[in-house]
Amino acid sequence: MNLILFGPPGSGKGTQSALLIERMQMKQISTGDLFRAAIKNGTPLGKEAKGYLDAGKLVPDSVTIGLVEEELNKLNGQGFILDGFPRNVVQAEALGGLLKTLGLKVDYTTFLEVPTSLLLGRLTGRRVCKNCGTVYHIESKPSKVEGVCDVCGGQVVQRPDDKEEVISTRLEAYEQSTRPLKDYYKAKGNYVELDGTGTSEEVYARLAKAVQVKR
Ligand code: ADP
Ligand code: ZN
Repeated sequence: MNLILFGPPGSGKGTQSALLIERMQMKQISTGDLFRAAIKNGTPLGKEAKGYLDAGKLVPDSVTIGLVEEELNKLNGQGFILDGFPRNVVQAEALGGLLKTLGLKVDYTTFLEVPTSLLLGRLTGRRVCKNCGTVYHIESKPSKVEGVCDVCGGQVVQRPDDKEEVISTRLEAYEQSTRPLKDYYKAKGNYVELDGTGTSEEVYARLAKAVQVKR
């Protein structure tokens, strides 16, 4: 099973990917996570991407597409979830080419629909563990001890691009570049639109039903 998971920032792609990894042994290819890891490790890719992430802007297509190509080449037959890629039509076209070359196909393209009014609260309240990446929310899923990860004891912090000033730029990039992909993938078929509101388990139940995997 191969999936593209897309939707606005804060729609829950990362959360749903984590559930799919755990329950379906799929491999997540999250361009956002890959960029953040590269930045943390100070690699050339990280140095190139940092300014864009900090500003809430899209990393240039050539860089992003190269990164995904590398990841697709490493799959070894494992099912994948593309999380946060493609983010515009140029990337979508490039992905089509890569998949064709590799003899792979996407079974479903799933879009997580969350009203814009909810996104801001989800994003400004999000906190993440610096060490293991576990995601919290100050209201809906706080860590037991403020600032300390329940799972590993690491430091729980706000992502720099979850500050209100940067969120507005991310939402603009989404509106301008990513939202048009809805029509692009609708026309291609195997396109599923999901209600992304409610608890993560409620959303997962809808997702599992739509793509016919176990719940
Ligand atoms: P979210 O979906 O919550 O905005 P991500 O972790 O997916 O968060 O992305 C964070 C940032 O990483 C984006 O704002 C952008 O700078 C960069 N990024 C991630 N995926 C892409 C992509 N496909 N193309 C360009 N930039 C990307
Ligand atoms: Zn942790």
